[in-house]
Amino acid sequence: MNEFEGKVAVVTGAGSGIGEAVALLLGQRGARVVATDIDAPAARKVAARIGEAGGEAAAMQHDVASPQAAEEAVRLAEKRFGALHLAVNNAGIGGELNPVADYGIDAWRKVIDINLSGVFYGMKYQIPAIERAGGGAIANLASILGSVGAANSAAYTAAKHGVLGLTKAAALEYAQRKVRINSIGPGYIDTPLLEALDDDARSGLVGLHPLGRLGTAAEVAELTLFLLSDRAAFITGSYHLADGGYTAQ
Ligand code: NAD
Repeated sequence: MNEFEGKVAVVTGAGSGIGEAVALLLGQRGARVVATDIDAPAARKVAARIGEAGGEAAAMQHDVASPQAAEEAVRLAEKRFGALHLAVNNAGIGGELNPVADYGIDAWRKVIDINLSGVFYGMKYQIPAIERAGGGAIANLASILGSVGAANSAAYTAAKHGVLGLTKAAALEYAQRKVRINSIGPGYIDTPLLEALDDDARSGLVGLHPLGRLGTAAEVAELTLFLLSDRAAFITGSYHLADGGYTAQ
């Protein structure tokens, strides 16, 4: 299935986990991919895997907390592959785990800079490029914590709720201009983001999902590609869960 043949995509945080799965699947389905990550070797490894599988990709070191780097990523897509049609603003961090009164000011700023401002900086430069290309779609990685809270994760929860609002506002602004923009709410997904958890914490998380397990990056990638594809042509400004039933409780 080459449904993204002729399309060019930027994926941030593409060096690991969900971003890696999205970048690889986009490459497999015909898109040319700019895989960016703050971890340059990880981005290069993913771009190389796309190439080995017969696709085309470029890698770039990119801190999503930098507006200049966001502009450079778009410029790289246009220079290398001629246009930009699709973007996945995926890079994110978990951040400090503490109640609000103990939450570090710098720790708060870091999570907001990466998980929320990073999505704004990304879209600020991606949207005009997608318009220049004649239209396309953006998927922003939020979380179940975009719609419900989690104790000790105020910054992450606030940032992810912010991603939903930012997505809705931007979707309204560009609905008539052929740019669809949606957000995604994964439940807990088995990626390196959860590496810090001990076995007890991990099985506690499993128990919060009615399906009785954590999700996989591949499952989130499938939803992401659906939202980017023309199969989702009537879907914009909305929030799409892949959470094993977590928020249905
Ligand atoms: P991950 O840690 O496996 O991968 C995140 C990638 O982002 C890494 O390659 C890392 O180097 C990169 N990164 C970190 N800071 C960056 C920065 N400042 N600029 C650019 N790249 C940076 O994480 P993941 O689980 O794949 O998470 C991806 C996204 O999905 C995040 O936005 C996360 O909040 C969200 N999410 C994850 C889960 C989960 O349970 N894993 C659940 C819901 C939402």
